[in-house]
Amino acid sequence: MAVPGEMVALTFQAIAELVRAGVRTIEIDEAVRDTVKELGGKPLFLGYQGFPAHSCISVNEEVVHGIPGPRQLADGDLVSIDIGIEAEGFCGDSARSFIIGEGSEETRSTLRVCREALAAGIAQARPGNSLVGLVEAIEARIRAESHGLVEKFVGHGIGRKMHEEPQVPNFVSRSLKHNDIELRPGLVLALEPMVNAGTGDVVTLEDGWTVVTADARVSAHCEHTVAITEEGPRVLTLGPGECWPPNPGTPGQ
Ligand code: MG
Ligand code: MG
Repeated sequence: MAVPGEMVALTFQAIAELVRAGVRTIEIDEAVRDTVKELGGKPLFLGYQGFPAHSCISVNEEVVHGIPGPRQLADGDLVSIDIGIEAEGFCGDSARSFIIGEGSEETRSTLRVCREALAAGIAQARPGNSLVGLVEAIEARIRAESHGLVEKFVGHGIGRKMHEEPQVPNFVSRSLKHNDIELRPGLVLALEPMVNAGTGDVVTLEDGWTVVTADARVSAHCEHTVAITEEGPRVLTLGPGECWPPNPGTPGQ
């Protein structure tokens, strides 16, 4: 799974310089398409339940599943890009969020909390912990600040298929407690907190895909594919020159 994982990271590295003011999100998706092809992978999202693009690009109030199109990025935007690739029979899935320019205080804090929530979850992805324990760490990080936790969408197990058991919500639900498991070496999870500046409530637009915040305030989405190993968490969706925890200033991480 390190192979598709690294391809996802290499794709992010290839598109990083396109994430700037004036670029249309469809141009970023075209670069994703070309890069994944060059790498010899298969984009997992294209055609998934009819999804029409190679990546999900969600801007500002868009939470997840944004469809790339003519929208031009502007200074201050918070852009979340989600990429999934299949290679050698296995899947990798990662989302990175970027701010164009400085961004507002609200935008910066929303992204910071999202990154910290993902990091808190990854730190708990080790043998002997429970899934509930991992999810508690993500939830606690988000609830500690007055940000909205998106409950409607979840992380997931990942392997030969993009979405496998178990579901990994970003809060401890009754059903999660009921279905708790011990984390063991070999289990691979896609952890993906979604954090809103305001309410955690979301609405799906008429296109059937784009999920937006109910109050139109900004949202961030950060995701890594993480293997549980005897030595602890191994983040698979990292590329050359990247490490976990990330060095400060790594774009999108
Ligand atoms: Mg994803
Ligand atoms: Mg995912």
